[in-house]
Amino acid sequence: MSNRIVIVGGGYAGAELARSLDTKAEVTLVEQRSHFVHSAAMIRALVTPELMDRAMIPYDKLLKRGTVVQATVASVDETGVTLADNSRIDADYIVLATGSDNATPFKPKGADVAGLREDVLRINAQLKAAKTIAIVGAGAVGTELAGEIAHFMPEKKVTLISGPAHLFPDQPAKLGQSLAAKLQAAGVNLLLGTRAENLDNLTEPYSGTLTLSDGQTLSADLIFPVIGSRANSDLFDTLPTVSRTTANRVVTDGYIRPSSLPNVFATGDVADNGDAMTIVATMRQVPWLTKTLTALISGKTVDDLKPYTKWNKPPILVPLGPNKGNSYLSLFTVGDLLTRQLKGKDLFIKKNQKAFGRT
Ligand SMILES: Cc1cc2nc3c(=O)[nH]c(=O)nc-3n(C[C@H](O)[C@H](O)[C@H](O)COP(=O)(O)OP(=O)(O)OC[C@H]3O[C@@H](n4cnc5c(N)ncnc54)[C@H](O)[C@@H]3O)c2cc1C
Repeated sequence: MSNRIVIVGGGYAGAELARSLDTKAEVTLVEQRSHFVHSAAMIRALVTPELMDRAMIPYDKLLKRGTVVQATVASVDETGVTLADNSRIDADYIVLATGSDNATPFKPKGADVAGLREDVLRINAQLKAAKTIAIVGAGAVGTELAGEIAHFMPEKKVTLISGPAHLFPDQPAKLGQSLAAKLQAAGVNLLLGTRAENLDNLTEPYSGTLTLSDGQTLSADLIFPVIGSRANSDLFDTLPTVSRTTANRVVTDGYIRPSSLPNVFATGDVADNGDAMTIVATMRQVPWLTKTLTALISGKTVDDLKPYTKWNKPPILVPLGPNKGNSYLSLFTVGDLLTRQLKGKDLFIKKNQKAFGRT
């Protein structure tokens, strides 16, 4: 039976896929890091670093039957993957879930989980010492960061800067309006409809002066560039006929395959299949891949199966610290109470601890 599945990358997409295929196939998950890093908790970890102990989780109890190999995959072909030390893992199906990078200290650089810990502690000390903070970029990460600092360090003067004239311009207007009102009530200075034109560093917080597109200048003891994720797609260069879209993501076909190889799939942030770069998107892709791969190993072909369709109105949950926030739940927006219960209170840490075999 052709049921050997190799998954490259044990982030949200790869780890959950490995877990859901564990009883159905012979699964090998190849992940370069020692620990899964729950990025949704890393924003609050910056103001309460002790959270890192529960937001970084070892892989040893993720799978019951399958294997987790701690290694970096260097190349992929239709018969398997080659690791950085030149050893091989053969496979019938391969899923690439190599994810994305973000600014320091929100995701580890490569395999360096210990380095992320040090970065969080270092920047937490800088944050404590700073009086004025500027956050450039008001996507979910920038907005949440402003909310966490306003909640846990209310004495800081926080400015949130964003090019669009409204927060979350692609979501129902009520979401952005409610969040803006709550941030302002918490003392955050919102500068919307203006862009920082001279970011000295795109990936690390620093102290300096910003020139804004409306002509203002703004000095801050700590400037956080929070301008989005960039996909880790270098590995895809080892596949035939791969092309890219924005943020270094890879184009996929209707069955979320990134190349002309019929048994190689891609999921999560790295795969541009129409979904945004979110954990939420992986919650639609992983069940589809589980179903599809289970059918393929039982002898079906992709032509017998339904293609993947993107999530048209995915939910988004935006806590501003543990008690406040707003969310769009695909049909309507909700406020503090549900945002706290669904995400703000615990940031899905318990859920991830459980998924990784911790209680
Ligand atoms: C601070 C922050 C907060 C966020 N909060 C939310 C949120 O609340 N909700 C939400 O929906 N989204 C959130 N996101 C987005 C979310 O983190 C991403 O969408 C998610 O990480 C994508 O999962 P993934 O599995 O595709 O990739 P990643 O989580 O990036 O995982 C990829 C994995 O692949 C491994 N890898 C890469 N290359 C190789 C290789 N060659 N060999 C072996 N291993 C390799 C990496 O080490 C990594 O573990 C947040 C992002 C950030 C930065």
